[in-house]
Amino acid sequence: MATNRTFTMIKPDAVQENHIGGILSMIEAGGFRIVELQKLNLSAERAGQFYAVHAERPFYNDLVKYMSSGPIVAAILEKENAVADFRTLIGATNPANAEDGTIRKKYAKSIEANAVHGSDSDENAQIEGEFYFGNK
Ligand code: GDP
Ligand code: MG
Repeated sequence: MATNRTFTMIKPDAVQENHIGGILSMIEAGGFRIVELQKLNLSAERAGQFYAVHAERPFYNDLVKYMSSGPIVAAILEKENAVADFRTLIGATNPANAEDGTIRKKYAKSIEANAVHGSDSDENAQIEGEFYFGNK
């Protein structure tokens, strides 16, 4: 399993507000190479599958609705220590707690519409990348 890759999505609010370029710029400036990149629409069913780990959380239905509300951008990123370094670059889930200089501090609107996804482990980075791009 690759330990130098992570997976990200630019979420519907950020795509809708024309922040694809700004976010990809921050990602590249952060030392990540974009290995795969695709703009697409998630059906509610696919969004539900992607976030199945959160199925028991109270916000799950809202999250599925939100993630299928408009186009997203999915990407596989490469960098040494990619998973941890990308979590640092995106900042806290709730933008109210995100550090200055992070993607969520700059672009997130709320704890739900928080601009970007970042994998939380090497194992999930592999699974999530395959969900969109197959076995790369
Ligand atoms: P992440 O790893 O930082 O993205 O956060 P989680 O894995 O805990 O949650 C997944 C996604 O669910 C987050 O990025 C948010 O879009 C959404 N989310 C998390 N917590 C909440 C919450 O308390 N309320 C709502 N409405 N959405 C949430
Ligand atoms: Mg998570």
